[in-house]
Amino acid sequence: MKVFNFNAGPAMIPQAVMEKAQKEFCDYKGSGCGIMEHSHRHKLFDEILERAISNMREIMGIPDTHAVVFIQGGASMQFAMIPMNLAVAGKPMEFADTGTWSSKAIKEAKLFGDVKVIASSKEEKYTRIPAVDEMKIDEDAAFFHITSNNTIYGTQYQAFPNCPANVPMLADMSSDIMSRKLDVSKFGMIYGGAQKNLGPSGMAVVIIRKDLAERTPANVPTMLRYSTYIDNNSLFNTPPTFGIYIFGLITDWVKDMGGLEVLEGINNKKAETLYAAIDGSDGYYRNPVCPCSRSKMNVVFRLPSEELEAKFIEEAKAAGMIGLKGHRSVGGIRASIYNAMPLEGIERLVSFMQDFKKNN
Ligand SMILES: *Cc1c(COP(=O)(O)O)cnc(C)c1O
Repeated sequence: MKVFNFNAGPAMIPQAVMEKAQKEFCDYKGSGCGIMEHSHRHKLFDEILERAISNMREIMGIPDTHAVVFIQGGASMQFAMIPMNLAVAGKPMEFADTGTWSSKAIKEAKLFGDVKVIASSKEEKYTRIPAVDEMKIDEDAAFFHITSNNTIYGTQYQAFPNCPANVPMLADMSSDIMSRKLDVSKFGMIYGGAQKNLGPSGMAVVIIRKDLAERTPANVPTMLRYSTYIDNNSLFNTPPTFGIYIFGLITDWVKDMGGLEVLEGINNKKAETLYAAIDGSDGYYRNPVCPCSRSKMNVVFRLPSEELEAKFIEEAKAAGMIGLKGHRSVGGIRASIYNAMPLEGIERLVSFMQDFKKNN
């Protein structure tokens, strides 16, 4: 039986991508050795890097003002690199706090200057995104940072705030990058750990407005400066070549699927199907999130008791669905349904949910 993987990250990778990688693993394009064995300066890797970047640019409509770079250390390293590079003396760094990941970004920024949290849903246990038109971003802020999709709480920005023209908006999109259409030019920086929608863990994909990289103070080390990655096309040192290779295959796959327009349609259908099953269960399954903020990537729900939740997870595993346990900090069930999850996986989950409710 095919197993559907609902893990939050590392997460499902499209079957076609894994099969292609397997086929090419020992002998990449007749070169006699695998891609992991080739130099990052070799022409074969250069082609991979260029294609990965140009695919990403095409899929997301990234303007020439922005660079695409690959940085090791995942999204969490960006929490530190952002204030190291983009803090401005005398100006507050502003954040919307929508959960654990936002809080971690805030914590790092505090090491480098004044931080202002201008919107938070902490009091409501992060069950919604604060109203974006009520976010009062200072004209004077160094930047404004949001977490576009909150992987643990199952919330997602449905629309983005309007930042004052001279304040760059930065977004941690780790768990919804490349899942829907958006206007990249509205952002100073978009970044994400790759392991949810973009490939293997350990690497962050960073889309950054080039002029912002000029802000970096002189005492920031070379490997922690955005300009190092931009000026050297992510090849200052040995980059995570395998991660970039898989990321490239995933962007090929997104294009083969018909691009973001098609993918977003499928993602909408998947989320609607699952929320409809929750809402139509007469309260047996409950989604704690404000309907105005429901995530299309991480769908969280509760059952009538923790015992039933544990049973649900066990029996789902036997029915070929793994990774449904909610984050340890909140409990419950979480179905992570990133780009690689086909509608078929949602249909199996929904039919299992109906049977489980009947029997329990
Ligand atoms: C997973 C996740 C992270 C952490 O990513 P790492 O690559 O493990 O550092 C940060 N932000 C969000 C929104 C995430 O979902």
